[in-house]
Amino acid sequence: MNTPRRIAVLGATGSIGRQALDIIYRHPELYKATVLSAGRRVDDLIELAVIHRPRLAVIADESLLPRLREALEPYGIATAAGPDALAECVEADDIDTVLTATVGYSGLAPTVHAIKAGKDIALANKETLVVAGEFVNRLLKDSTSRIFPVDSEHSAVAQCLVGEDPERVARLLITASGGPFRTWPSEKIEKATAAEALKHPNWSMGAKITIDSASMMNKAFEIIEAHHLFGIAPERIEAVVHPQSIIHSMVEFTDGAVKAQLGVPDMHIPIAYALGENSRLPGASRTLRLEDFANLTFEKPDVKRFPCLGLAHTVLTAGGTSACTINAANEIAVAAFLNNRIPFGEIFRTIESALYKTNFIANPCYDDYVAINDEARAKAQEYIDKF
Ligand code: NAD
Ligand code: MG
Repeated sequence: MNTPRRIAVLGATGSIGRQALDIIYRHPELYKATVLSAGRRVDDLIELAVIHRPRLAVIADESLLPRLREALEPYGIATAAGPDALAECVEADDIDTVLTATVGYSGLAPTVHAIKAGKDIALANKETLVVAGEFVNRLLKDSTSRIFPVDSEHSAVAQCLVGEDPERVARLLITASGGPFRTWPSEKIEKATAAEALKHPNWSMGAKITIDSASMMNKAFEIIEAHHLFGIAPERIEAVVHPQSIIHSMVEFTDGAVKAQLGVPDMHIPIAYALGENSRLPGASRTLRLEDFANLTFEKPDVKRFPCLGLAHTVLTAGGTSACTINAANEIAVAAFLNNRIPFGEIFRTIESALYKTNFIANPCYDDYVAINDEARAKAQEYIDKF
């Protein structure tokens, strides 16, 4: 019998982390969670650690370590806190795969450590590839690690590419639900509130990605992510609005054939496919009944109403640290929007301003990404402070 694959679940208390732990819990013959980490939700982390009994539980916020330690010591579960512990916990011998399900820039450092330690990555944290895709791909060349995408669109593309010659790929068609403002006019989108933006039509996800879906910044990030994952030129990656979220993405080939991957909108499917190293887990989700969906429809995305989407090709053309800049500015803008500091329309203008004002480094090393991330956050904050 094979021994279970040992998983470090980073961002265990979040939407992806919890769904991954569901799969791990239901399949002890296949998986064991050996490390769990979280940002600040210490009580949730304690509860999950008591259920899953990892060797180690790590919390980002160091002030919460005493509480974590006190609760988990009786169970013999080790504890740690802070950014170094979060990054280094992925290197241990009792880890085969690192699931990166934290939000934003925080995914980069642990992923870099994991690749250097030769661990496989189940990548949910798309921001890692947005910030430093070229750097991560260089690291992968010198490592035995492999990346398995968790994002549903990239999982769909990976599934469509099975058995295909990469030279015969004409286009990647990345589907987008269009979010809650798909049919809204610009003036209404401009003034949308956080409560309105948090109402995603098809997916239940963390707050940050839900706002990114409403602005279509999420789709811009996914185009960048697809470029780095599959090595397809930016001009051959397009977004297609598909409001039902049943087709998770498509690949068009040079003979005109198009392959699509369909399924109910349930992240258990791509999470299980990634944890299984691109293999299928029977019963991962409920079956799709196509007759329940009288119409599957498609629209061209409207970059005028959703200007964040256009940033994907802007930064892929510019290269260097420009994608790192827009990611950092977006994180600041989304946090300000969720705190009702800025209206929805200002998210794009905050990013645009930071992109214009932040230094640009054409061939960045790791420390350059760190510096540009800090600088872009500061520039975005300066813009927001005017409100
Ligand atoms: P979430 O907000 O529900 O959960 C985030 C998790 O990360 C929590 O456990 C939180 O404690 C932890 N965290 C937050 N900040 C941290 C920090 N600085 N350091 C360490 N841990 C931190 O988010 P989510 O919706 O699960 O998304 C996670 C990632 O997966 C994001 O990159 C998102 O874009 C991607 N993703 C999510 C979905 C989805 O359906 N939720 C789909 C595709 C991709
Ligand atoms: Mg996605």
